[in-house]
Amino acid sequence: MRLNVSRIKDWDWCPQYQGYRWEEKRVRVGGPGRALWLGSRVHEVLAAAMEGKDGGKVVEGCKEEDEAQAKALDVAVEVWKGKIKPWERVLMVEEALETRVGGFDVETGMNWTTKRTEPVVVFGRPDAVVVWRDKVWHVQHKTVGAGVPVAVFSKGVKRSLHELMYAKMLKEKWPKMAYGGTMLNVVRKLGAKAMERDPGAALHMEFVPVGEAAIKRACGDVRLVAREIWEGDERGLYQNRASCVGRFGNSLCPYYGVCEGDEAIEGPGFEDKDPLEGYGDGS
Ligand code: SF4
Repeated sequence: MRLNVSRIKDWDWCPQYQGYRWEEKRVRVGGPGRALWLGSRVHEVLAAAMEGKDGGKVVEGCKEEDEAQAKALDVAVEVWKGKIKPWERVLMVEEALETRVGGFDVETGMNWTTKRTEPVVVFGRPDAVVVWRDKVWHVQHKTVGAGVPVAVFSKGVKRSLHELMYAKMLKEKWPKMAYGGTMLNVVRKLGAKAMERDPGAALHMEFVPVGEAAIKRACGDVRLVAREIWEGDERGLYQNRASCVGRFGNSLCPYYGVCEGDEAIEGPGFEDKDPLEGYGDGS
């Protein structure tokens, strides 16, 4: 079974949501929300810069109502480009990798290796990989709201399944080098006035070490979820109603109408889209 971390996270959010997105491959017409679009655009521009290319401006292609925020982000990105980065060299930018995290017995679900074992392979695309002080590091670009406390945010990154799986992939790709962890490159969405006062205030780099024990535990968790997804085909998908209006009760799930029986997933409100082709974080 091959899967990526975004699919696992979608399953955790709501198995039914995961089914519509990854199995039926249907998304709401109109694409990702505004906040997601801006974050993805910043990501594109920074990734291009790390390859020595010109990725254009964040503001290019944005909606009119996002223009002020996008321009403020462009100021921050320009400051970032002019800063001296800590790393000595860039090894790769957004290249696909994969790693085997073991398997499970298709009948018992246990982590034993038998003839009926289903291997579990996780694939992904780390933002950028660099060398700093003889260690390999994953550079992760993140755009966050102005009020997000970076110290707490980075603790979440340390526990992130994405980071732990990338760590495993990168350790396997460069086995002779020590692995450092994640260099978290944060761009905060400050308002225009705050940017005028100090554009550098939007930028923050945090070093988040990743250890072997955490990677091992994450592999076990991935195997457990992979088995649940595998079984979901036969057992049916659970609708996690706690997620229908978002974590803070202010954001409606795109599939709400379908789960309520008011519209069909095959209907005109949705279109075909493979999540691996970049709807949201299809990494
Ligand atoms: S509306 Fe609720 S139950 Fe339905 S897919 Fe969305 S989160 Fe899951």
